[in-house]
Amino acid sequence: MKKRLHNPNIAKIHRNYTVEEVAILYGVFKGTVRAWIKSGLPTLNDKRPMLILGSDLVAFHQARRTKNKQKCKPGEIYCVRCRTPKNPAGDMADYRIITEKIGNLEAICPDCDKIMNRRVNISKLEQIRGKMTITLPQALQHIIESNHPSVNSDLK
Ligand SMILES: [Zn+2]
Repeated sequence: MKKRLHNPNIAKIHRNYTVEEVAILYGVFKGTVRAWIKSGLPTLNDKRPMLILGSDLVAFHQARRTKNKQKCKPGEIYCVRCRTPKNPAGDMADYRIITEKIGNLEAICPDCDKIMNRRVNISKLEQIRGKMTITLPQALQHIIESNHPSVNSDLK
């Protein structure tokens, strides 16, 4: 399949789409849509069917069009709305488990108040943490803390 840029405005901003619908809309494989999600396309929930907001699709593809895509430094998460990496509001992020090794950092953009997402490998958490306070799910706290004693966690 030829690599091409997708017209960001093809999605209707007030609609939600399933992965299947996005694939049909953009004429790509479902696996491609999942790769977009992995690289930062926000979803409305982690349940099935996953729903993707049309306005997020538009923002995501507009962001990919801007060639000089900035890389996130430690402590930063990419905001697809603002199209730039940000230090999250309050430097706070929540870690959500996706697989045993992969998780998603969720934080709030300080400028547009939208959720920002960053896929992380748990072993790299320490490197990308910067000054973020990362809240870990309870199931992970003892594992992480024994390996990386300096990861902050909120014990509630
Ligand atoms: Zn933002």
